Amino acid sequence: MNSTRNTLKKFIYSYTTGLTNLVFPENCISCDTELAQKEVYICNFCQGTLKKTYFESFKEPSSLDKLFWGRVLLSHTFALFYFNSNSPAQRILHNLKYQHKAKLGVYFGEKIGQAIHSAYAFKEIEALIPVPLHHKKAFVRGYNQSELIAKGISNELGIPVLKNAVTKIHHTDSQTKKSKMERWENVNRIFKGESLKKFNHIALVDDVITTGSTLESLALEIQKENPHLKISIIALAFAKS
Ligand SMILES: [Zn+2]
Repeated sequence: MNSTRNTLKKFIYSYTTGLTNLVFPENCISCDTELAQKEVYICNFCQGTLKKTYFESFKEPSSLDKLFWGRVLLSHTFALFYFNSNSPAQRILHNLKYQHKAKLGVYFGEKIGQAIHSAYAFKEIEALIPVPLHHKKAFVRGYNQSELIAKGISNELGIPVLKNAVTKIHHTDSQTKKSKMERWENVNRIFKGESLKKFNHIALVDDVITTGSTLESLALEIQKENPHLKISIIALAFAKS
């Protein structure tokens, strides 16, 4: 009897939540506990432990603004939360990069969009440029996580994502063993910009900012070809050193 009831319960449960579960995983991507009905990807507890930056309401330059000082001129910078190892932030990024949880990128992109939607500083941004992945990596993973985040931001702000504005034009060796200068030169040579003339202000979108060197080189490269263009930077997470 009991088992029949359980089966029935399970059936009703799967019938009513089945549609949602096709789209969203039912366990928290951070702590793996089962999600409550209104929780999406991450449980409320883990969500609460995410260290939001609140950069959207900063009046003074943020630590992320300062990271780029003296390197590249940017209009505005934003990251939704701080990245710490062994935290929900790390598990979100890991899931996004390696677990094929593609929709997670769009979901958190929308969270970014909601955070900056009413912030005056971001109102003049006309288009979003995801930081490109090397084609091989994109092929293995099946998607570019920065592009998914940009898609989510685009859903909220109603501005286009320019997928082909910059492309990496050739593969480079692992950059970890090179000096900072070599790395900079190396990255600097692999981007090619096109058709941004009609824009006044664009934002580069990335998943996580650590040293900022990729974004720096990309922004410099774009500025070289489009000196009129204002560039902002938007990321999901910022690993503050
Ligand atoms: Zn959790």
